[in-house]
Amino acid sequence: MVGAGKVIVLGSVNVDLLVSTPRLPCAGETVSGTGLTRQLGGKGANQAVGAARAGAHCILLAAVGADDDGASMMAALASHGVDTGRVHVTPSATGCALVATSPQDNQIIHIAGANSDVGAMLTAGVDVGPDDVCLAQMETPASATAALFRRARAAGACTILNAAPASLDARQLLPLCDLIIVNESELALLTGAEGGLRLDALGLTRGRNLLRLTHGQTLLVTLGADGLAIVEERGVIWISGHPVAVTDTTGAGDCFCGYLAAGLARGDDMERAAREANAAASIAVQSLGAAASIPARAAVLQILA
Ligand code: ATP
Repeated sequence: MVGAGKVIVLGSVNVDLLVSTPRLPCAGETVSGTGLTRQLGGKGANQAVGAARAGAHCILLAAVGADDDGASMMAALASHGVDTGRVHVTPSATGCALVATSPQDNQIIHIAGANSDVGAMLTAGVDVGPDDVCLAQMETPASATAALFRRARAAGACTILNAAPASLDARQLLPLCDLIIVNESELALLTGAEGGLRLDALGLTRGRNLLRLTHGQTLLVTLGADGLAIVEERGVIWISGHPVAVTDTTGAGDCFCGYLAAGLARGDDMERAAREANAAASIAVQSLGAAASIPARAAVLQILA
């Protein structure tokens, strides 16, 4: 289903090289691994897949290299229903994440590559309408996000920043956002609160004040298995997590953001869109992978019925 507005995602595309190992190596050590796979990754790509799976017309603004990885990631995005017509091909190599996972933990080395070439120019000819939702993260240059968000605001569109990975650069973007989505550690870094913030109504309201959010801006804090909190000037709305058996939480946040953006573009209010995103992410954590684990909307509506 295509809603009233479209979702425009600005963000990263990576090829994720995933390997499993019984335990991660110490410095200078070699361990054996199994099951090497190459998968679509990057927060921009994952969130665009989330919005498309939720039924939105989703346009991705991103950059990949003129290499085999770039071509196969573009094909993967298209197979999930993402509009890749505005993904630029640049002379840099496609972004890459080397991900080693063990039952206890994971280690990631990220090479930004073509993601660093995402610039304000990429947003120049994009048609943004008042019903559209623009969504960005912190894996591509903040200057490009600022350019998109300024255009969006001039057009009366909604702007969402998922301030992940945690970065102080996000602070400069806050005045341009209608909605800021963070997890607990991103909130702690952005607010600068010593020892983090208490995750109760008082603590989250303090967080909102530390971010100097104005009347019309919303802070949404994802709380993993505990769900999320929507922090508005008039108070906090709590939405509990769905109790599920977890297989892999990779990309749960990206699934959440993509679904939320699609809901708002459809015309849902914040609480309704967040409930659907929460349900979608609870399905995503029950199978392996990031983009690959994002459910179709029919499955999400079933558990909300
Ligand atoms: P990640 O970095 O793993 O993608 P994140 O740290 O950005 O995730 P989280 O707060 O961990 O974000 O999770 C985002 C959303 O995913 C939660 O608000 C919730 O809806 C869902 N979720 C995450 N973990 C679980 C879980 N164990 N059970 C049910 N739902 C979960």
